[in-house]
Amino acid sequence: MRVLNWLGNTQAEPTSGLWMDDLNPATSQVIAQIPRSDANDVQAAVDSAREGARIWGSTPAQVRADTLRRIADGIDMELNDLARLESTDQGKPVSLARAIDIPRASANMRFFASALEQEVHQSSKHVSARGAALNYTSRKPIGVVGLITPWNLPLYLLTWKVGPALAMGNAIVAKPSELTPLTADALGRICKESGLPAGVFNLVHGLGPEVGQAIVEHPEIKAISFTGGTATGRRVAATAAPMFKKLNLELGCKNATLVFEDADLDEAVAGAVMAGFSNQGEICLCGSRLLVQAGIYEDFVQRYVERVAALRVGDPASPDTQVGALNSLAHRDKVEGYLRLAVEEGGQILCGGKRPDLPAPFDRGAFLQPAVIADLPIGCRTATEEIFGPVVTVHPFSDEEQALEMANGTQYGLSASVWTQDLKRAHRVSEALDVGMVWVNTWLLRDLRVPFGGVKNSGVGREGGAWSMRFYSEDKNVCVLL
Ligand code: NAD
Repeated sequence: MRVLNWLGNTQAEPTSGLWMDDLNPATSQVIAQIPRSDANDVQAAVDSAREGARIWGSTPAQVRADTLRRIADGIDMELNDLARLESTDQGKPVSLARAIDIPRASANMRFFASALEQEVHQSSKHVSARGAALNYTSRKPIGVVGLITPWNLPLYLLTWKVGPALAMGNAIVAKPSELTPLTADALGRICKESGLPAGVFNLVHGLGPEVGQAIVEHPEIKAISFTGGTATGRRVAATAAPMFKKLNLELGCKNATLVFEDADLDEAVAGAVMAGFSNQGEICLCGSRLLVQAGIYEDFVQRYVERVAALRVGDPASPDTQVGALNSLAHRDKVEGYLRLAVEEGGQILCGGKRPDLPAPFDRGAFLQPAVIADLPIGCRTATEEIFGPVVTVHPFSDEEQALEMANGTQYGLSASVWTQDLKRAHRVSEALDVGMVWVNTWLLRDLRVPFGGVKNSGVGREGGAWSMRFYSEDKNVCVLL
């Protein structure tokens, strides 16, 4: 299967004539070839998007909202196929893709269709020495926007950007991760079948330093929304900032799960397992540093390790599988490197960390048993650097003050979860955590209206609800002397 670029509603081969293999990480088999595009293909996408932006930007809001809903319906109609495609491309259990990734992708489109319909523009009157004046503010599309996304939640995160960008009347030039291109390609087809005008949805496949960089550098692309690693985000910012582009960066993480002695332990154990190992630990919100109050540490860790060791690792297509393959063999190598480092740093691996013994063809896949590591100093590399895999380090703390110091002691600040039944403590700790999002007695419970994003090296700006609508538009104020 050869995947092509989308230039508006037509498909195109890369001008370079070069192709790259796309692998199923569960078997290492080649499942598709994708274009190794370059700056020429990005230029073609911008040429297409320029015309798309002209048409779409002046399309009535209701027509845009209706089109987004048709795209959402199209995604829902292909739920099973898209879930299978996502699982095969990414390595995640198909059950997870069917329950979370694909439904969330259609929810993203529907949510921003409704958000657009609910937009009310404000006007105000003021009186000054020079007379009374009426101010009104209108919101304009930006024009052509660039969307760059990672491999962990491919369609989920792409639609999280495509939804608001299209709702606000922009044309897009998108680049999905080269490791997970397939559902982005399907979205291009669904957009076309849903009646999105030519030129509005443009998708260029290829490598980050080639296609991604060309998107960020292109002078006609006025805004960049990027989700990926912190080091890549730094390069994106270095290119885009001097060009005064609007920039939204959703970057790396090392999130803490804080469990206090007064927590409901059954719920906290179950929540911490989910936070640690959902999607093989490859979610930016995963809690990979588990901080447990000393009085319950031993009991908690014992129950936690029992649960983690019982997670079923294997064929992502099997409905029983709870942990699929990591996204690539190279990524597994990186994670295994951290497991070796953990031992060097004095850590004790309480469970997992080994390659499971799986039958062919999964014996060639990027599988790893979920690992829990104890006895590490909280400031060591394993406990502070992003691993982004099925690895959790556990650390005891004595009191609230120490818990906060430990939780805040990384360069990252995306999210945290706090487990306690003390209402005052829940608020106090949430307030003091240096992160963009806190969950209390739950994890990854999402409301698409609320701000999503991090502080410190986890990013700049917020996505979600009004924050996304604002990012993908420019406000213009008009002041009329009455
Ligand atoms: P990555 O930074 O390697 O790649 C992300 C995207 O950027 C890919 O499409 C890649 O091709 C592209 N890219 C690479 N170099 C580029 C360049 N020079 N210019 C422009 N684009 C370039 O990240 P990844 O490995 O795909 O994803 C994992 C990372 O994403 C982790 O760090 C994870 O924490 C982060 N992430 C963050 C969030 C969040 O919301 N904060 C969500 C998901 C993933």
